[in-house]
Parts: sequence; C-alpha cells; structure tokens
Amino acid sequence: MYADIIIDISHEQLDKTFQYRVPKHLEGCIELGMMVRVPFGNGNRQIFGYVIELGSEAKYDPEKIKEIISIAEEKVHAVKRIIKLAAWLKHQYGSTMNQALKTVIPVKEKVRQKEKKTVALAVTSDEAVLYLETFAKKNARARYRLLEALIRDNVIGFDVIKNKLNITMQTVTALQEMGIITVKTEQILRNPVKNAEVTGRLFKLNEEQQKIADEIKSDYDSGLRKTYLVHGITGSGKTEVYMEIIEHVIMQGKQVIMLIPEIALTFQTVQRFYRRFGNSVSIMNSRMSKGERYDQFLRAMKGEINIMIGPRSALFTPFSNIGLIVIDEEHEGAYKSEQTPKYHAVDTANYIAKESNASVILGSATPSVESYYRACNGEYKLFTMANRAGSGQLPVVYTADLREELKEGNRSIFSRKLQELICDRLKKKQQIMLFLNKRGYAGFISCRSCGHVMKCPHCDVSLTAHRNGRLVCHYCGYEEPVVHNCPKCGSKYISGFRAGTQQVEEMVKRMFPQARTLRMDMDTTSGKEGHEKILAAFANEAADILIGTQMIVKGHDFPNVTLVGILAADMSLYAGDYKASEKTFQLLTQAAGRAGRAGGGGEVVIQTYTPEHYSIAAAASQDYKMFYEQEIAYRKLLLYPPVQNMMTISLSSGNEGALEEAAKAANILVKAEAGKDRLFVIGPANASIYKINDVYSKVIYVRADNYDKLTDIMEKIEKYILGNTLFKNVGVQFDFNN
Ligand code: ADP
Ligand code: ZN
Ligand code: ZN
Repeated sequence: MYADIIIDISHEQLDKTFQYRVPKHLEGCIELGMMVRVPFGNGNRQIFGYVIELGSEAKYDPEKIKEIISIAEEKVHAVKRIIKLAAWLKHQYGSTMNQALKTVIPVKEKVRQKEKKTVALAVTSDEAVLYLETFAKKNARARYRLLEALIRDNVIGFDVIKNKLNITMQTVTALQEMGIITVKTEQILRNPVKNAEVTGRLFKLNEEQQKIADEIKSDYDSGLRKTYLVHGITGSGKTEVYMEIIEHVIMQGKQVIMLIPEIALTFQTVQRFYRRFGNSVSIMNSRMSKGERYDQFLRAMKGEINIMIGPRSALFTPFSNIGLIVIDEEHEGAYKSEQTPKYHAVDTANYIAKESNASVILGSATPSVESYYRACNGEYKLFTMANRAGSGQLPVVYTADLREELKEGNRSIFSRKLQELICDRLKKKQQIMLFLNKRGYAGFISCRSCGHVMKCPHCDVSLTAHRNGRLVCHYCGYEEPVVHNCPKCGSKYISGFRAGTQQVEEMVKRMFPQARTLRMDMDTTSGKEGHEKILAAFANEAADILIGTQMIVKGHDFPNVTLVGILAADMSLYAGDYKASEKTFQLLTQAAGRAGRAGGGGEVVIQTYTPEHYSIAAAASQDYKMFYEQEIAYRKLLLYPPVQNMMTISLSSGNEGALEEAAKAANILVKAEAGKDRLFVIGPANASIYKINDVYSKVIYVRADNYDKLTDIMEKIEKYILGNTLFKNVGVQFDFNN
C-alpha cells in the first residue's frame, strides 16, 4: 500500500506529490486527506504532509520509497470532499496545491480545547452526612465546606469550588482519594451564538415572498437542483425568504451554508437566524479566536450544527451533506479572494453545489452584471422583488449637476440643493450622511466645465495621471502627455479630482459651524474596534453628520438618517477598470438606500459632473434594468466579462530589469499559445500601481470565450516558469474575470 503525499511547505518547487509506503500497522488507518509525519530529504528530516491519493502500485523503485512515520493526530484531517475541492481551486484559479489546501482547511493546527471540570458525590447522601460529622469533629473546615455544598447541589463546577467556596486542589484530591467524590472532565465546544430566545417565525410571508419560497421548495422536492438569483430591493424581505427555504432543507436532514459579507455580519442579522433556528446555527468571522473557529469546524463535522453563517471562507465548512448554499449581497467585492488562489465565492459555491447535489440561492438589490447575465441566459432562475416588505418607503433622489453649479458661480463642494437640505435637517435634529465615493480612485483627469474625462482610445477605460506628467492606460500601456485645456470644450478647469474626507469635514465645519461631525475613513478607523466605535457613536446620535468613504454605506441602519449626500458620484466611475460603472451604480444605490430606513421617507442628493452617464442616471431613478441594459451593451462591444472570460497574468519583482525580461518572455509564450485559438491578448502594461514597497508589477490580459482555454494557457505558463532562471526573482500570479 502506497500513499501520495503533498509536503506541507509553502514552496513552489515542492508543489508535487511524493510517494511513501504505508507501514503494515497503519494499513486501514490511513485515509485520504489525513495529515501524516514523513521523513523528507537527504537528512530524513521529519515533516508533515497530506495524503491525497492511495494505491497499491509503486511509482518508482520500491526499495527507494520511504515509509510514513505516523499519523499526525494533533492536526485536523481534511475530508475527502475538501481535498477534491482544493484540487479544483488549484486548477480553476491557479495556485500551488499547498496554497489551495491552506484555503480550504481553515484552521490547521488543533487548538487546545476548553474543558469543564466538575465534582460530584461518589457516596450516598446518608454516608456523606456521616463524613460531614467526622470533618466537623476534626475541625477540617475546607473539607466540611466542600462536602456540605455537594450534599446540597450534587454536582459543582471547579470554578465555583475555587472562587466561591475558596477550596484548594489539595482538598479536592484528598476527598477524591477517600472515595467520597469523583472528578469529571468534559470537553466543551465554544458556541459563539448566545442568549437568544427561539421564537420561530415572526410573521407570515407576503405574497411575493411566498411565491418565491414555494417555487424553490417545490423544485427542491422534485429533485431539481439549480442556482437561483433573487433580485430584490433592499428591505423587500429576501432574508425571510432564505430562512423559509433553509428551514425546508434542514428538515430533510441536510446542511446549509449562508454567506453574508463580513461587514454586514452584524449582531442583528445573526440574532434573526438564531431566533429562528436556535442552537443548530453557528457563525464564523475573522474576529473569532483560532480556538473558537476550530470548534465551529468540529461542531459542523460532528453534525451538532446544520447552518453555518459566515463570510466567503464559510464555504469550506466540512459538512457532510450540504443541501443549500445561500449567498446574500452576491455582488459584493468581498466574495472574491485577494489571495492566491483568487477564487470567487459564487463560482465556487456553484461547483460545491454540483458536487454535493445542492442548490444555490444568490440574492442582491444590485446583482452583479455577471450573475444577471447568466440569469438572462437561463443559466440561473431569476426572481424579482420590487416592493418593501416592512414599513419603509423608498427615498426621493435629486441629482445636482456640478457643471451648472460652477456656471452659477458656486465653487464649493456642496450644491445648493444639498446645502439647503443640510440646513433643514440640522434644524429638525435629524441625521445626515455625506458619502465620498473613493473606491478604486485612480487619479483620472476630468473637466469641471463639461464633464469630459480623458480615456484610452483603445480600451475605453479612463487614463490615470502619473507623477511624470503622463496619462497612462493600465490595460494596454497607451500613454499621452497630460492636458492643460479640455480637448472638448477648451476650458482650463481640467484636472485631477482632489477631495478627501478630511477636506470635506473642514468644509462642513466652516459652512455649518453648529453641526457635530464624525469622520470615518482609513485614518480614523485604525485599530480593531475603530469602526464600531464611530458607528456606535453615530447610532447614539452623538453627531449630526457622518462623513465617510464606502465604509459608511454598507449594512448599517441608522433610523434617524433622513438625508444622504453623495458628494462626487463620478469619482469611482473612472477607476480605470472595466467594472468601474458597475461598482459606481452599486455604491450609489446602496448609499441612497441608507436614507429614510425607518419609514419616514428620506432624501438623497447625488452630485455629479455627468448626470447623463447611465450609472448615475439609473441609480438616481433606482432602475436596475436600465443600468444593466447599457452596461451589458458596453461589455458586449468590448468583449469584457461576462461576455468573454478574462485572465490577468501579473508579474512582479523587486528587480525592474528582471521583470522586463520575464514579462517579454511570458508575453511571447502567451501570444504563441493564444494565437493557436485566435485569442485576444493585451499588454504587457504596467500595473495600475506600478511600484508598491519597491516591488514592480506588470500585467498581461488574455480573453477567451471558453474559460478552459485560459486555464490551459495558465498551466503552460506554470510549467514554463518552473525552474526557468528568467523567473528566479519574478513572481507570477493569475486572476480570472476580475
Ligand atoms: P432584505 O433582506 O431584502 O433587505 P429583510 O428580510 O431584512 O429584507 O426584511 C426587511 C424588513 O421587513 C425587516 O425588518 C423584516 O423584519 C420585515 N419583513 C420582512 N418580511 C416581512 C413580512 N412578510 N411581513 C412583515 N414584515 C416583514
Ligand atoms: Zn470640457
Ligand atoms: Zn488601453
């Protein structure tokens, strides 16, 4: 019996399997996914590895095959399904097997478990009373106290014995040796969800909700497994629909994974699930300790829970019989891993569901273009929810054209409409949120008179201003000198967009000195709880105005906020990537959704230089369909995802010359491979941030109809660079449809 083992060292060169012999005494004990100790290298250093294949054939000279030393009991064993999942991640997104294993096995080291020690009487109560009398006579006070307490309570925890009764370990041991008491040790698994009353369903689903739930349940019962996309405005009651279906699925003995972006994983959300499902729910988040996360992992494996709620990594919960995966706010960027393997939770969920015969439900108020496209193609089944379920009303949205403001002589960063409404709310003692849309802001150049933006003539994305005074395209490398007059209208008000949250706060203080402000951005939220402190202060109405970046628009409800100002909606529109319009529409819609949540109805002012741009116009009229139609037309025209698949190859090095050489070589290989299928290659170009921490990066893009053609090229490159001296100091990473 032989085992293929992958060595647990994060090293590219070692990313292959090694064959070991399974010793006689371990035959039958060794299973796929187990972690074992093996001798490695010339010195037979003892290291750990995962068993990823078992077989009876030696792949080379049996004499030379070393033997497994032992099973690493203290390490968590991955289940077979999870190992297969790792192999898929490696193939689909590009990584070493080790990186993939580390991704799917969340907590590798076993963490010492929490124990609960208790003491109980080992004699009858009559006998105990006799002992008690003896202790009294001998004046053995500690023994007397302990026994007296035990006669009263039968079982007492160690914490009580030590802290409340003030009894030492010696006393306990003495009574134990006399056979009067027994000491028990129990392992307890930490449970992060506490103190909620299980109340079950709170209200009847409305007609819209019921119809969706019924249809999905009936599909499920007739054995149909699908991916559903629920497009429902914020507050339409999607969560209630998920819960209804989740209940149906767990009643059939299956398990459910529910993904929620970490930032929206608030106490309120978790409590809603807990009240409905009680102890069978658990959560994972990045604030939990290693031990706590490990315990959730074990509870899932043991079948103690059947619903796991968490961010994207909760996908790897080792359930044995998954029936459903729900992904709420499916459009969120956080569902894409930024670390290799750069997997996307939606695609990974679809794969897991296929392997486990499960269904997938995606939900969003602003679905990703990718998911909506698939729904339109019939790959997903689409449901729409157009009405708010509770009491809230949709806000009234105004658009303020900043070009007009300039013409009328208003050079401040607040339009007249916004100024007027801020005054009004301050008077009424209602709260205001001012949102500066800085996501992916990349130094684009725009005209303040006519709104014209400098773009790449080849890629139709914005050019980025560099310090050397040139405007650069980060897809194809196209460059041109910086302009001083608008090429469209001739105005000299053409420049970069420079307003930070700090400047906004200063302006607010100058114009509205009576207002109390809070600012939330990278600078004010450092430290673990920085975030929560500011949000809590605003929720407690310690300030009238909250100023911030995208951090303030996600997942927080402030009932007293009745005005949201979006200061420069355009800022994220020109981030220099093909998803800029999509992200802008999503952010504006989310920000607008913050106004008037409590039912009073709110108002939103969107300030912009390009009110005619479809992302802004569609967000202002809260019309997803209108946005989608325009956006998909643009993607079709330029063959961006989801119309075609796109692979980004990033090369990086601290040595600029080496990077140049490697990029050239990689480009020749890519062009040759891509040429066979007439695939489209762009680049190499400098990455959007060319130099970070003295590391330089270049990118090459390849587009193809067929995803597998891209992974084929990826695998060719992986092979080519292995051991190639040109790539000795150059790292290569892959990213898909980013
Ligand atoms: P979403 O997930 O779409 O944002 P939620 O499920 O959170 O929506 O519901 C929004 C609000 O409406 C919540 O306060 C919820 O309690 C309430 N709600 C949902 N469904 C109903 C219903 N059928 N009847 C009354 N209130 C409802
Ligand atoms: Zn102009
Ligand atoms: Zn270009």
